[in-house]
Amino acid sequence: QQSSPAQTEFYQAVEEVLSSIAPILEHNDRYHHHAIIERMVEPERQIMFRVAWVDDRGQVQVNKGYRVEFNSALGPYKGGLRFHPSVNASIIKFLGFEQVFKNALTGLALGGAKGGANFDPKGKSDGEIMRFCQAYMNELYRHIGPTTDVPAGDIGVGSREIGYLFGQYKKLVNRFDGVLTGKKRDWGGSLMRTEATGYGCVYLAQYMLEDNKERLEGKVCLVSGAGNVALHAIEKLQELGAIPVTCSDSQGTLYHKDGIDLSCVRTLKAQPDASLADYLTTHSNARFIPRDEYPADGNAVWHFPADLAFPCATQNELSATDAKALINNGCKAVIEGANMPCTKAAIEQLLKAKVLYAPGKAANAGGVATSQLEMAQNASMQHWSFEEVDERLKVIMCNIYQSAHNAAAEFDQPGNLMLGSNIAGFRRVADAMIEQGVV
Ligand code: NDP
Repeated sequence: QQSSPAQTEFYQAVEEVLSSIAPILEHNDRYHHHAIIERMVEPERQIMFRVAWVDDRGQVQVNKGYRVEFNSALGPYKGGLRFHPSVNASIIKFLGFEQVFKNALTGLALGGAKGGANFDPKGKSDGEIMRFCQAYMNELYRHIGPTTDVPAGDIGVGSREIGYLFGQYKKLVNRFDGVLTGKKRDWGGSLMRTEATGYGCVYLAQYMLEDNKERLEGKVCLVSGAGNVALHAIEKLQELGAIPVTCSDSQGTLYHKDGIDLSCVRTLKAQPDASLADYLTTHSNARFIPRDEYPADGNAVWHFPADLAFPCATQNELSATDAKALINNGCKAVIEGANMPCTKAAIEQLLKAKVLYAPGKAANAGGVATSQLEMAQNASMQHWSFEEVDERLKVIMCNIYQSAHNAAAEFDQPGNLMLGSNIAGFRRVADAMIEQGVV
């Protein structure tokens, strides 16, 4: 770690997986013999490239572009693209590494990858977003393909960006391929792909609670984020009778004890100049906590009383201090919509206090699973109904829960879904790598 200080997040993700899979390594000499760990932590291919584009003033701008193709043992590389100023090689590598295990856990034929750029979409015009996406695809297109590598969206990449990326890919290769997921329905998209991560996360929470003789209905929920995953998690929670009382964004946290008014939040987030603080003009009994008033070492969103917590914004957004606040306020379960939102110390606190904990690898896998359903529809030139995709998503989330749950029980740690998810995912990938030889 000392020799590569820039890879903090990647080492954090690797450490979590390695500590979980220790029990399976102890009993399987063949994993050592085939140097599975050494091979798994090294991406099959890492692409870093210049993205040069022209802004509205005619000024040339340059960003760093990435695609880390981590592991293709189980299928074509699959994983999202993130456009955010914080993006660097460590973040893309950690996300790619996590993606390998998450995709394996779905039981589907998907390898793992992640990509993105340190581009900040905030404050950019539509034309600038389009030119950036085209410039990004001018390099990416040569590395991807419907059976090679199929990127999707992530932070800062929604259906508008997928559209511009797809248009440029098509122009460059002269083929209408299912090369990206998260497309609009009329040109190859699947119904429910947009909703899938947030909805899937709530379905998994439901299975986990039922298995522990609890119900989702009536539960007060803390949700962080106000993007794709967070708002769809809030929508599904409300539909199933739970009461989400928070959301948050990069500026601050909104708390509304009566329950978040989702349509008001959506309206605010759709306006480039509006803030979540503007919610208070129509809901005087709500509170807004600006980011500079957050507790030291913590995030205000986790400091309200609630039964359940759904971190759905970004990595390391729930610290040990936040975990202690959740525990003191009687929180029964933490379900990760985002990737690696809880710090290592936070997870330790939660597990020690016997709070039910569903890691992102299991809880947010609904997005990538539905991407695979989009690929299946593209390959067979079919369109499935919303209900059909939703039913398949429910089955996949239930299977994910069962796989993680059963693996945890098999290794004498019943209920430890972190251990169970990592072991179940690891086993599929490792066995496939051994069966495919040393490559
Ligand atoms: P969006 O860009 O739609 O939303 C992200 C939200 O998180 C925004 O509200 C944003 O605030 C907030 N946010 C982002 N970075 C920070 C930060 N550093 N500090 C505080 N707030 C922040 O992204 P998604 O909803 O798609 O993704 C959220 C998480 O879910 C990520 O971890 C992603 O990897 C994960 N995920 C997403 C999947 C998907 O299908 N989209 C699939 C699986 C996982 P603001 O609005 O101010 O920008």
